[in-house]
Amino acid sequence: MKITTAITTKDGNVYWGQELWLQQHGIKYHKNVGSKHSCTVAYNMAIERFLREDKDNEYLALLNNDVGLNDAAFGLWTLGGDLLYCGAPAETAQGHFGDGDLWAGCMRASRRLLERMSALRQPPWFHRPMNPIGTELFGCDCQYFMEGARQAGITSKMVTSVEHWVRVLAGYDKSGRRTYRQPGADK
Ligand SMILES: [Zn+2]
Repeated sequence: MKITTAITTKDGNVYWGQELWLQQHGIKYHKNVGSKHSCTVAYNMAIERFLREDKDNEYLALLNNDVGLNDAAFGLWTLGGDLLYCGAPAETAQGHFGDGDLWAGCMRASRRLLERMSALRQPPWFHRPMNPIGTELFGCDCQYFMEGARQAGITSKMVTSVEHWVRVLAGYDKSGRRTYRQPGADK
């Protein structure tokens, strides 16, 4: 399977465990450094570069720089399918999990899908929709991409779930076990 793997990062840094995992699994990758304030820019940069430069490759895998990969996640590089992803706690309160959802932080899209999406809906592929005066966001950029994929007749499959560096509230339960809670996740 011919796959381009692009790490997306706001600042050029990548979690060391992720690079080690990729190297141990023989996966070559390049980094797309987006705007300091936006992963969205890095996602779009990776797709634009893939469509323009990597014409021999059939798939593009996108990896946020702060994802902790596991054995099951290797499916992203071995399984068939136009749109695969790994679930994780993410920017929305509920995160992204299950078939039919999508997380941009750990996903793989086929060239076929990206080209069809580009034809049906003007890029950007990832975008954070907001109201006309920019005071309110409607959903996240993963959801925007999903809408485009649905227009192209493709739904997503979740390969497994992965770890993601997110801010959590750490505590103890009554028996002294550590607990972790993502602020807002219980809303
Ligand atoms: Zn999202």
